Amino acid sequence: MFVPTLMNLADEEQQARWLQPALNYDILGTYAQTELTHGSNVRGMHTTAMYDPDLFEEGGWHIHTPSLEAVKWWPGGLGKSCNCCILMARVIIKGKDYGPHPFFFQVRDWETHASLPGIELRDIGSKLGYNGMDNGAMRITHVNIPRRNLLMKFVIVEKDGTYRKVGDDKMLFGTMTYTRLKISSGAGFNLAKAVTSTVRYSAVRRQFQMQRVVLGADIDNHLDDDEKDALAAQDQLKNLVKPSKRTEAQVLDYSSQQFIIFPQLALAFAMHFAGQEAEKLYNAALLEFKASKFDALTEMHVLTSTLKAVSTVLMADGMEQCRKCMGGHGFLNAAGVGPQYLSALPQATYEGDFVVLSIQVGQQLLNAVSSKMMKGKTSNRRRLRSSTSTSTIRPSVSCLPRRPSWTPCFRITTSSWRR
Ligand SMILES: Cc1cc2nc3c(=O)[nH]c(=O)nc-3n(C[C@H](O)[C@H](O)[C@H](O)COP(=O)(O)OP(=O)(O)OC[C@H]3O[C@@H](n4cnc5c(N)ncnc54)[C@H](O)[C@@H]3O)c2cc1C
Repeated sequence: MFVPTLMNLADEEQQARWLQPALNYDILGTYAQTELTHGSNVRGMHTTAMYDPDLFEEGGWHIHTPSLEAVKWWPGGLGKSCNCCILMARVIIKGKDYGPHPFFFQVRDWETHASLPGIELRDIGSKLGYNGMDNGAMRITHVNIPRRNLLMKFVIVEKDGTYRKVGDDKMLFGTMTYTRLKISSGAGFNLAKAVTSTVRYSAVRRQFQMQRVVLGADIDNHLDDDEKDALAAQDQLKNLVKPSKRTEAQVLDYSSQQFIIFPQLALAFAMHFAGQEAEKLYNAALLEFKASKFDALTEMHVLTSTLKAVSTVLMADGMEQCRKCMGGHGFLNAAGVGPQYLSALPQATYEGDFVVLSIQVGQQLLNAVSSKMMKGKTSNRRRLRSSTSTSTIRPSVSCLPRRPSWTPCFRITTSSWRR
């Protein structure tokens, strides 16, 4: 999130200062948004950035954690490794609250790696998995930073405190769209790793003798010529098909095993290609954003949120199925799937909880459907107004705007209504 945020939200001069050092790993950054008491509800965060035109030469920000609840909690790498971050904090200018905005924020000394004055950092401790990542916590006590540390591609704050938007302010959270896309593609890859281990294991693991039907075992001794010919043919067949020295069957040959593994195999491919297609749509939309056209912003939010919510949940379920398909050995860390599964689990939570994202997608789809239905049609408007619940509206795919990504999102979301 650190580098994509600099790419998407920093202006050219800011990118020249921070992006290249970040790409060279000369500085190590993270993304500090979540607070102890506010994760999904980003707009509810409490960390403040008060503008003061008298700070530094060009004005500056006074950053503060106002309460224990506002301590930044979870940022990956903040516990020990990072020396800077994108800090999300509420911009307050002359008493007016403009909501959360991204800042470049140094947290440790570039040379000694010691925490800077006014900044307390800690590792939040051991987790179920994903322990290679030192997720951290940060409390900030009255720290001042220059005005130009606010990322200013889509929002500009002048020295006198004038606040100006450039483009759509939803772009402030646009980086999450990209990260969700990456998580969706990664989910397919994680599942593919688990499926690979499980298929290979099932091919070498043998349990039980396969039941073989012995033809002609209970036929009568009185045979006519044709029947004798048939028996002779059967003897020949026995000579041709010698019994295997291994008497037990590969577990992969059991249809019950295939019933569990093969859908996961297909799903891994489906998720991979869905991710690739979504990335093409995203890149096309990005060109529009660069040309200051933001029509596709909502669509991208819907597409990436749907994919992220669905694929991370399917991935986790699928990986667990794979683990079980390896029997007792699947429970060993050495089998690989268990640790990978535990580390992949939080993907359903970070960068947008899967339930919260699904609800947002549902709301957007209903908005799209109702605005299409209401377009100039008073009868539809009356019908919608008289509806007491959303279940009385019968939306169909044809109600949606003609955008390629809406249809799958619609199908995924409405299928959960049907259940
Ligand atoms: C491993 C890991 C790494 C992380 N890395 C980072 C990081 O680098 N930087 C960072 O800033 N954050 C990070 N996070 C934090 C992460 O983004 C948040 O945990 C996530 O946004 C969910 O917020 P929350 O924990 O406050 O959960 P909550 O929002 O409190 O959710 C708790 C429950 O309430 C439900 N819920 C919440 N709101 C609604 C609603 N409106 N309707 C229905 N149900 C609702 C949720 O579905 C969930 O079941 C990380 C988290 C994890 C687990």
